[in-house]
Amino acid sequence: MQKGKSTLLFTDALKLKRPNAFQVMLKPAGPACNLNCNYCYYLEKSKLFGNPATTRMSDELLEEFTRQFIEAHEVPVVMFTWQGGEPTLMGLDFFRKAIEYQKKYSGGKRIDNAFQTNGTLLNDDWCRFFKDNNILVGISIDGTEKNHDHYRRTRSGAPTFKRVMKGIEFLHRHSVEFNTLSVVNDYNVSMASETYRFLKKTGSGFMQFLPVVERISDNTDDKSLKLVAPVHGEAKLAPWTVGARDYGEFLITIFDEWVRNDVAKYYVQIFDATLANFAGENPGICVYNETCGDALAMEHNGDVYSCDHFVYPDYYLGNIYETPLIDMVKSQRQFDFGIDKRNSLPRYCLTCDVRFACHGECPKHRFLTTPEGTPGLNYLCEGLKMFFNHVKPYMEFMTRELKAKRPPANVMNWIRNRENQAVRQARPERNDPCPCGSGRKFKNCCAGKPPWSFQAAGNL
Ligand code: SF4
Ligand code: SF4
Repeated sequence: MQKGKSTLLFTDALKLKRPNAFQVMLKPAGPACNLNCNYCYYLEKSKLFGNPATTRMSDELLEEFTRQFIEAHEVPVVMFTWQGGEPTLMGLDFFRKAIEYQKKYSGGKRIDNAFQTNGTLLNDDWCRFFKDNNILVGISIDGTEKNHDHYRRTRSGAPTFKRVMKGIEFLHRHSVEFNTLSVVNDYNVSMASETYRFLKKTGSGFMQFLPVVERISDNTDDKSLKLVAPVHGEAKLAPWTVGARDYGEFLITIFDEWVRNDVAKYYVQIFDATLANFAGENPGICVYNETCGDALAMEHNGDVYSCDHFVYPDYYLGNIYETPLIDMVKSQRQFDFGIDKRNSLPRYCLTCDVRFACHGECPKHRFLTTPEGTPGLNYLCEGLKMFFNHVKPYMEFMTRELKAKRPPANVMNWIRNRENQAVRQARPERNDPCPCGSGRKFKNCCAGKPPWSFQAAGNL
C-alpha cells in the first residue's frame, strides 16, 4: 500500500506522481520482525523463502536495487520506502550504506526516504541518523496502551506499548518528523475518539488508519500461507478483522472531531485522499485511486511482487538480478494488475454514488458478492459508503474553498456558524427538557450559556 503524505492539504506529492514514478516497498529484513503481532499478514511470508533462519538483504543487492530504482525514474524526486518485517533489524550500517549508494547513483535527482518501524528498537543513534538524513519515520502504534497491547506483542507475548513510547521519546529528543500508522481491528475500532486524541498527544502530525481485513484458509499444510488472497474462494474471516460498519463509524467519529477542530493542524490520510477525489485530483493513495499497480514490493532477496498486499506466488513478477526492475514495472502483467482494480468492479460499484471517492478500495478486500449476486464487492463496502456519504457536505465545502484559492480549513468556521444558527433556531422553552441531555429543565441547566452542545442541535 502506498504510504506517506498525501495531496492537497499537505505536500506537493501530487506533482511527483507521473509515468515512471513508482514506489517499491522494500523489505530489507524480509518478513523478519522482533515482534509477533497477532494480526500481522507479513510474518508468515517466510514460508515463501523456505523458512530460512534469517532473511537479510545483501549489500550487493542494495546497490543493484538503488541503481536500477533511481535510473528508472523520470522525475526529479525519488522516494525509497523501507518496510518490513522490521527494517531496524538490519542495523544502522546497512542504512548508512543505503544513503551512500543513493548519493552515488542519484544523478542529480533528489532522494527521499520513508522508514516504517514498530519503534521498539529506536535509540539516539537511529534518531540522529534519521535527523541527519531527513528521513520521514512512520511509527506503528494502535492507540492507547490498552488498545495497542491487545495485539501488538513480542514472541513471548509481552506487551510493547512502553517500548514504542520510548522510541517516540527518542524521535522527539532529536526533532525527527514522524507520522503514525494505526491498524484498525475488531478491538480498537470502538475507541475512535480515544485513539485519535491519544495519537495527537504523541506528536503525530499525520495519521494513517488502516483497516485489517484477513481471511484464513482451512488448509492444514504448514508450508502454505494461511492468510489468503481474495481469489482464494472459501476461507473464514480472521477474528481480528474489523467489522465493515464499525470501521465506517470509526472514521466518521474521528472525522467529526477533526473537521470541527483540526483541519490543517493534523492530517489524516483518508480525509486528505477523499478531499483530493472530491476536488478531482489524485488521492495520493492507491486504494482510493481508480487504478493501482505503481506500488510494488521487493523482498530481501530481490524477488519483486505486484504489491505489498499481494505477496503471493501468483503475483510474483521476477527477481531484479534476472529482470530489470523497470521491465517488471512496465510489464503487461503489472499493467493488468493495476487496471484490473477498475475493470473488475461489479456493476453495483459502477452505479454507486460515491464510487469517485471509493473506487472499490483495495482489491485485496473484494471477496463479497453484491446484492445481485456478482462477486467482487469489497468487504468494507457498507462502512465506506457510510463514511463517504457522511463527509460529503464538508468535502464539497472544502472543495469550493480550494477552487476559490481559500484555505479548506475555513470549513471549521462554516460549521460553527451553521451549528450556532441551528442551535438558536432550536432554542427550547424555559421549562423544556434541556437539549444537552442532562435530564434537567432547560432553565435550570444550559439556559443563558453559549450554545450548549453542537451535537444537541443535530447535524447539518
Ligand atoms: S492492490 Fe492496489 S490498491 Fe491494494 S494496496 Fe496494492 S496497489 Fe494499493
Ligand atoms: S462504497 Fe461500496 S459500492 Fe460504492 S464504490 Fe465503494 S465498495 Fe463499491
